Amino acid sequence: MHIIINEQKVAVKMYFRYNKIETEYLKSKCKKLASVIDKIGHIKRTVDKDLFSAVVHHIVGQQISTKAQATIWQRIENDLKVVNADTILKTGIEKLQSFGMTFKKAQYITDFANKIKNGEFDLEAIWEKSDEEAIKELSALKGIGVWTAEMILLFCMERKNVFSYDDLAIQRGIRMVYRHKKITKPIFEKYRKRFSPYCSVASLYFWAIAGGSIDGMKDYATIKKIKKRKQNINREEKLQAIKNRDKNYDGKFYCAVKTTKIVCHPSCSSRRPLEKNIELYDTLEEAINAGFRPCKICMKEFYKKRK
Ligand SMILES: [Zn+2]
Repeated sequence: MHIIINEQKVAVKMYFRYNKIETEYLKSKCKKLASVIDKIGHIKRTVDKDLFSAVVHHIVGQQISTKAQATIWQRIENDLKVVNADTILKTGIEKLQSFGMTFKKAQYITDFANKIKNGEFDLEAIWEKSDEEAIKELSALKGIGVWTAEMILLFCMERKNVFSYDDLAIQRGIRMVYRHKKITKPIFEKYRKRFSPYCSVASLYFWAIAGGSIDGMKDYATIKKIKKRKQNINREEKLQAIKNRDKNYDGKFYCAVKTTKIVCHPSCSSRRPLEKNIELYDTLEEAINAGFRPCKICMKEFYKKRK
C-alpha cells in the first residue's frame, strides 16, 4: 500500500499480522503442524489493505504468472498513481488493456469501478461482513471467483480463518505434512475444524511447505497419467501453421515478429514474416509483456471495443 507524507507517495510494506496466540493454538492442536511452525518460524506475507486495489490486483493476476502480474501492476501504478474507481474509469478499457491485460479483464475492472462509483456495490460494507457473506458478495462480482474472494479476505482484510479448498498449493501442503495421497472435501473439512479459528495462519505454513520450505518433505499425491493440458505443438509444426495460415491454430499460440514488434494469429493474412524474425508465444499476454503490439488486421477481437 501507499501512504501520502508531505505530498509524497511512500510505499509501505505491511505483512499479515499474527503472533504467538495463533501459533501456540495451532501447535496445541496438532503435533505435526507444531514441528512445521517451529522449523519455518514466522512467515512474512505482504498484505494490501486497500480493498479496491486488492480486487483490481486479483483480477489482473488471474491465469497469468506472478511475474506478469507484477509487471502489469507496476505499469498501472506508474500511470494511475492511485488505483481507485475514479482513476480506473478515467483510464478506460482501451488504456487498461495497453498495460498488458486482456480485454475481458479490463472490462471486469471497469465494471467493478462503475459499480463502486454508482453505489451498486458497497465496498466499505464488506469489512463489516462475516467471512461467508464477504466471500459471497465479492465472488458475485464479474471476474472474482470463490478462491479469489478468499485470497482477498486473507491478503487484504487479514481475516484469520480463511482455508481455501480450491487452493491447490494448500492441498499439496496438507498432503506433504500428513502424507495423504489425495485431499477430499471431508479430509479438508477435518483440518478446517482442527485449525479454526486460525486457518489463515495454518494456510501460510501449508503454502510455505508446498513451496519447498522444508527440505526432504515430499508430496504423496497419487501419480495419475494426466492428459497434458497444453498440446505441446513443436516449433516446426507452428512454423508450418503460420506458412499455411492455418486457422485451426488460432488461439493455440501466437506469432510475434521481432522486426515489426507486432503479434499475430498464425492465420493472419498480412505478409508472412521471415522465419528468423519469428518469436512464438503461448498466450497473447506473454507476447504483449515482451513488448509486442497486437496486429490490427487479425486481432479484431482485441480492438473491437475501439469503436
Ligand atoms: Zn495479423
